Amino acid sequence: MAKTFDVGIESLGSNGASQAAAHQAVGRQAAPGGLLPLPLRGVRDGQSAVTPAAPAGKSFFLETFGCQMNDHDSEKVAGVLQGRGYHSAESPAQADLVLYNTCSIREKAAQKVFARLGDWKTLADGKIIGVLGCLAQQEGEEIFERAPWVSLVCGSASYRKLPELIAQLESGGRRVTGLDLDTDETFETEITRRDNLLRAYITIIEGCDYACSYCVVPHTRGPERSRSSEAVLAEARRLADAGYSEIQLLGQTVNSYRDPSPRGWKFVELLRAVAAVAGIRRVRFTTSHPNDFHREIVEAIDEVPELCDHVHLPVQSGSTRVLREMLRTYTREEYLQKIEWIRAARRPISITSDIIVGFPGETEADFAETLSLLDTAKYDAIFSFKYSPRPNTSAMHLPDAIPEEEKSRRLAILNERQRAIQLAANEKLVGQSYEVLVDGCHPARTQWGGRTSCNRLINFTSPHVNLLGEYVQVKVTRAGPNSFAGEHVT
Ligand code: SF4
Repeated sequence: MAKTFDVGIESLGSNGASQAAAHQAVGRQAAPGGLLPLPLRGVRDGQSAVTPAAPAGKSFFLETFGCQMNDHDSEKVAGVLQGRGYHSAESPAQADLVLYNTCSIREKAAQKVFARLGDWKTLADGKIIGVLGCLAQQEGEEIFERAPWVSLVCGSASYRKLPELIAQLESGGRRVTGLDLDTDETFETEITRRDNLLRAYITIIEGCDYACSYCVVPHTRGPERSRSSEAVLAEARRLADAGYSEIQLLGQTVNSYRDPSPRGWKFVELLRAVAAVAGIRRVRFTTSHPNDFHREIVEAIDEVPELCDHVHLPVQSGSTRVLREMLRTYTREEYLQKIEWIRAARRPISITSDIIVGFPGETEADFAETLSLLDTAKYDAIFSFKYSPRPNTSAMHLPDAIPEEEKSRRLAILNERQRAIQLAANEKLVGQSYEVLVDGCHPARTQWGGRTSCNRLINFTSPHVNLLGEYVQVKVTRAGPNSFAGEHVT
């Protein structure tokens, strides 16, 4: 692999389309209370400027659906395209190549992509329309049947082939696919377009070797492949040199990382090494599987200030019986043991989780156990979902489907219970001060926004200007269930 680069979006011809994508990426993390996300301007000092091969005057538009893994894959895909001389288009209508990086975790996400594809039925003439990501892998060549104007279908496990596939299309190929899952390679790119000037993602592991019965990921992203610790550290050093101070390590099961190089590092060793890179001030990681969550991760967070005091540990259900049906490989008790380790840490660590309600056969008693787990775990936030049957999952064929209205009822009860827990916990934080990385501003009201190390959103007032990208101390003056208001401690 040639030398790699990380480039800010404007260094390679950014425009409205890429700004929109960038705002999506920033906004998801950083647009508290309607604040404007951080404006993205230029390349940070020290960031490598890359002159791509002579542009052929071709442009692309890339829309991303789904998770942070997809966001970061899109940054890499954009880098691959820009490296081939493509530039970002203002809108899909103006682009020569229109790509959708898709999600198929729930049915709604898949429907949305097909609706987008439908828009091109009479307008695709002369354009290359491509589907990437989980839906591409799941539906495969069926996509050509449903939308014959699509030319490229490529799942994430085949992204390393993208330059080759695009070259085939450029030389007149009509339909190309990249749907292999049998790879032990990860998606390494020479250029990654960074869409957020404050936080940078680094994928450390791709795919998943678990087989949760509701989840399409093992089918769409293939088996687990870890990157070498050297490649990860080199990327972290490069990002630090480019001015990034916050790194987020990504993987579907990030903590099952195993260094394939002779070093053979475990996840916690990599975590400590990334945190030790000069210039890195915050390291986050997501998503952890409870099975691979060991006490040594909590000890590392306790000992290393650069490791953020936040753990996202999806539980999915509070009922061991349902967990067994979900093939989650841990019991309620084993999960709660890990929560105890985290709560016993010397510094407070916030904990968030994912919960599914209405899994087939979930009884009222099972659901009550999930509610009681909320009371015990006292999460700082949850992401809650109604179970959605997906093709190529074993749960698809389980009996005792829960009616949609009942799923909605349970979801509402769950969210109400969690809201009360969050409000009560957050109100206790009024008066405390936190370090905030400022990532948003409201120009009219001199109001700023950002996140604490524990990933709490705080909107605050300050007499100062030009705070974007700064680390500042903020005192909490008011708390809501999902965010805080505060004032800059100067
Ligand atoms: S651990 Fe389970 S839920 Fe997570 S990606 Fe793998 S199969 Fe899906």
